[in-house]
Amino acid sequence: MNNVNTASAAINNIITSTSFAQQIKQADKTLRRDKITTLQLNIGKRCNQACHHCHVESGPDHTENMNGESIDRLLTLLEQDKNILTVDITGGAPELNPHFRRFVTAIRAMGKKVINRCNLTILFEAGQEDTANFLADQGIHIVASLPCYSQKNVDAQRGKNVFEKSIQALQLLNALGYGTDENLKLDLVYNPGGAFLPPPQQQLERDYKDKLFQDFGIQFNQLYAITNMPIKRFEHQLHRDGLLEDYMQLLLDNFNPDALDNVMCKNQISIGFDGAIYDCDFNQMLDIPVSGKTLDIFSIQRFDDINTFIAVADHCFACTAGSGSSCGGSLV
Ligand code: SF4
Ligand code: SF4
Repeated sequence: MNNVNTASAAINNIITSTSFAQQIKQADKTLRRDKITTLQLNIGKRCNQACHHCHVESGPDHTENMNGESIDRLLTLLEQDKNILTVDITGGAPELNPHFRRFVTAIRAMGKKVINRCNLTILFEAGQEDTANFLADQGIHIVASLPCYSQKNVDAQRGKNVFEKSIQALQLLNALGYGTDENLKLDLVYNPGGAFLPPPQQQLERDYKDKLFQDFGIQFNQLYAITNMPIKRFEHQLHRDGLLEDYMQLLLDNFNPDALDNVMCKNQISIGFDGAIYDCDFNQMLDIPVSGKTLDIFSIQRFDDINTFIAVADHCFACTAGSGSSCGGSLV
């Protein structure tokens, strides 16, 4: 539990009147893991981009990748687990892991759904020329970041020319059937460009659909509106701009107990590139271990060995503010 205390210490200094654990109690709720149906995997920290808000702190200079032994171990664990129906693969840019295609192909052969968290621009990197075709052939569900439908806002958050390349990538995916074929789901992710909560997801989705279709002929399935997590690069940015305290207060003021019923850690666990197991991707980035102790994919026999306790700290307020937030968008 030391890591929990350490990781939350900075934010705890900000929230003096309460803590996430107290807030759960006051709301007369509990937070326990139910059946694990989704496995989220971070298979590497290398990325062709280096976005300002990145909670993984990825970038082109990183070399960390999940190795072949861990990939094989995960395939063994997944093969014997009938409850896990979805494997959600993220990074960095997951496509840069040399085992990515073998891994994805093997999971699909088990009949499980695979989500690829794709940054879109990766599809135009050297060596990735046929990645879009590979994803379509395998029927991979693509979830892609596009924090706005305006070039100015996207480039400000994700880097110069990212918007233009992202639009080209979406057009390429549409041409392969993504966004229109029922077996080729293409979802987009919005996150705020600053220290504010996302607007209502449904209205924003309508705006995105209208604007992207009118301007570029682009179609997609769903928009996920995700709250910025006050950790890593975004936390540093808030701190630098003197906004951390206000942002934490905003999350606390908008605490929504109904969102607690659907936070993603209730049904999923997260695995790091080194095989360590966490309650969620955010706890992974804060090095808060699952079950309050270090477990990895080699120290368990099956995912059911992980107990139902979820380690929370005050960054969790980002999951329960307003409409709630998860890697699948709003919660209520
Ligand atoms: S594309 Fe995603 S993983 Fe890469 S730097 Fe940006 S936010 Fe991080
Ligand atoms: S940050 Fe992680 S542990 Fe905390 S509520 Fe969100 S998903 Fe659950």
